Amino acid sequence: MKKHNKLEKWQRIFVNRSLNMGNTRAIGFDMDHTLAMYNRENFEALAFRATLGKFIDAGYPAELETLQFKPEFLIRGLLVDMDRGNILKVDGHKYVKIAFHGHTRLDKETRHKLYNSESFKAYEFLSMDSFFALSEVQLFAEIVDYMNHNPGKIQKSFREVYADLRQFIDKSHADGSIKNEVLRNPERFFIRDKHLATALIRTMDAGKHLFLLTNSNFTYTDAVMNYILGDASSDFPDWRQYFRYVIVGAGKPGFFTGTQPFYEVVTQSNLLTATNGPLDAGKIYQGGNAQLLQKLTGFRGDEILYVGDHIYGDIIRSKGSVNWRTLLVVEELERELLKIEELRPALVHIHEKIAEREVCDEDLQILRSKIASNARQAKIATDRGDNRRARHLLAENEKLLEKAHEKQGILVEIDEQIKQAIAERDANIHPVWGGLMKVGLERSRFANQVESYACLYTSRVSNLRFYSPFKRFTSYHDILPHEV
Ligand SMILES: [Mg+2]
Repeated sequence: MKKHNKLEKWQRIFVNRSLNMGNTRAIGFDMDHTLAMYNRENFEALAFRATLGKFIDAGYPAELETLQFKPEFLIRGLLVDMDRGNILKVDGHKYVKIAFHGHTRLDKETRHKLYNSESFKAYEFLSMDSFFALSEVQLFAEIVDYMNHNPGKIQKSFREVYADLRQFIDKSHADGSIKNEVLRNPERFFIRDKHLATALIRTMDAGKHLFLLTNSNFTYTDAVMNYILGDASSDFPDWRQYFRYVIVGAGKPGFFTGTQPFYEVVTQSNLLTATNGPLDAGKIYQGGNAQLLQKLTGFRGDEILYVGDHIYGDIIRSKGSVNWRTLLVVEELERELLKIEELRPALVHIHEKIAEREVCDEDLQILRSKIASNARQAKIATDRGDNRRARHLLAENEKLLEKAHEKQGILVEIDEQIKQAIAERDANIHPVWGGLMKVGLERSRFANQVESYACLYTSRVSNLRFYSPFKRFTSYHDILPHEV
């Protein structure tokens, strides 16, 4: 095992809230984008096409067919203003920093007027928490542009179009247009992580009970899990052997707050029978709720670590409603941390410029005080009739004013350089939106949520293999600004 300080950053597990894994008796896993890593570009393109087809079937203009899937346009953590057809990136202080209408960036003035002039209500907008939202919102942006370029061709408001979009996506999932295609060619849509089995087995060997808790139905779950784990280890030839409990169709986030019973899935027939427990290892259950799961398994909330990728559905609800400990999988980190490392010199340069700005600002402030003081002294001298001294002071002030003017110019120039350098660095991380966790040098709203709700976060589940299953994860987060 590699020592933690030898790990690459993207292999590490980061700690917001201390967690002693010695107290963790059960580890639950979400499936989609957690255990099962998607080839996102292929999957999102498929979802985009399938949903677009439903628009045309429903009588939208046939020329929508020409709309293109653009895998690079969006990132998670953005908000959608469905009424205006806008997409927003918000910082940790609820300040909208970047806004697009369709694919057109809003200028600063418009952005301020729409979003920053009164207190920002995030709940009025749709939060792009899941990867599934990316192709959905991109399609929305394409249609917004289409409607602007072809007025009158779609006689609906942006919000009505979004409501249709939601309905068409659900239809595409329900009628199999997406899932059947995925299951026909799993190798096109999933990335097998060859270390996943090792990571799971290490925690099992340490006596932890693993369970699967997914919203996907059994047929899909079975096929996907079989593809990613079926033959991953000769010790466990069947994927179900990794998990003491398997819960499909869980209906998260409702699972964490609701009272739905568990149903046993009779796998040969896919029939459901309600059960009052106990939950048997090796059987498949559907539905259920977190309280009942704890009761039937005997695990206390804080003895359960839940691993998921959905900040709201997996993490905020499980931590808030039943006090489970949480590990958030943020797969973007893998690429971003490499980029951030590569861009370290750019960040050093930005900090140097900020320091230079501070010195310059301080110099300017000293000059201003000197000028003000000279003006006061000149007036006193004039009142006293000492015109020579007054003239001398005013002459000095002229020179000082010239200097101050010069400094002011330098300050504006440094400000511009800082702005440029930050924008360039952001564009290097993502050409449109910058990093997932940052807006320039500030935290993003997404980063704030990660910090508030996820005890731990990492880029992929298999990173668990680098850590002892009894590891005490210690947070350094409780350090206040004055303690640094
Ligand atoms: Mg998921």
